[in-house]
Amino acid sequence: MSLFEQTSRPPWPWQEAVWRRLHEQKQSDVLAHAYLFIGDRGTGRAEFAREFANFLLCGDPEAGRACYRCRSCRAGGADHHPDLLLILPEEGKKDIGVGQIRELAEFLSLNSFSGAGRVAIIPQAEALTLSASNALLKTLEEPAAGATLLLTACSPGSLLPTIRSRCQLLGLPGPDIDTATAWLRERLPDSHSVSDERLRELLAAYGNRPLELAPALSAGQAPGFIALRKMLLELLEGRTSILRSAGEAAKIGESEVFEHLSRISTILIRGLVNGDVCGAENRALAAALPASGELGFLLEFHRQVTRSRTLLAGPGNPNPQLLLESIFRLWVKAGRGSRSKAQLLNA
Ligand SMILES: [Zn+2]
Repeated sequence: MSLFEQTSRPPWPWQEAVWRRLHEQKQSDVLAHAYLFIGDRGTGRAEFAREFANFLLCGDPEAGRACYRCRSCRAGGADHHPDLLLILPEEGKKDIGVGQIRELAEFLSLNSFSGAGRVAIIPQAEALTLSASNALLKTLEEPAAGATLLLTACSPGSLLPTIRSRCQLLGLPGPDIDTATAWLRERLPDSHSVSDERLRELLAAYGNRPLELAPALSAGQAPGFIALRKMLLELLEGRTSILRSAGEAAKIGESEVFEHLSRISTILIRGLVNGDVCGAENRALAAALPASGELGFLLEFHRQVTRSRTLLAGPGNPNPQLLLESIFRLWVKAGRGSRSKAQLLNA
């Protein structure tokens, strides 16, 4: 069972203002037919949309929230609500196809079973194909009575302007680092010993996305991130070998390793661009890189990490161990630059 079995539900503190606004609209009976929630991934926008759907369908809402006791809430909680439809890319696919949007149109046109209307959610609206977007446009142009469509996306620019203009756009802000740290702390059992300082550092590594970090902590992945960063420093300092590192990294799991490598290089690149690398360990790693051509090297490293991830996810069946060795070899090359620079300085 996850460490993060929901002990509380959205809206979370950073979402409360938007929730209040929606609640007021419901009270005044001026809800829109379609909403587009714009927010960063990992900050809970899909969970927010889902909770709002539960609220809309609840038979007996109290204090501006779903009651979680009525028949409708119990069905919604078990994911079997007959008036609720969730549209995600089908298994093994990255896109939402036109067939799924036709099903959605049919679903929304039917009468509500509960009498509270029908709600459909598209949590990753950027996954709509062009033909699916065009089909959705029709649904948006002729909304069925009592039907509400909830879309979420990272940026409005990822959707057709015609779709955006037919939805009410609501920005869902993410948390600041203190709120996110407190939120995670509340959800971690006491037995999970991690200091606030470490939590803040991990949050920074995860782009301040608590909902992305939560399952990683739960699955014990965050230590993988820390182990890998240490490995990269030791490689730069010549304290370990490529083969040994690749062997150790394989124990963490290749796909997770490349995910962490992508995170680490993003932190370092962002730090170089903004002039601020957060976290002492990240700073130590940044300091160990050669000062000249650092950005160019990191961009190339990041590009190769992304390429390896694409290869691993593709059908080509590449040798993960070789990919790991090759990425560490590239990393060590940068280390040679820094050591020779240090040797020159010492000479
Ligand atoms: Zn209820």
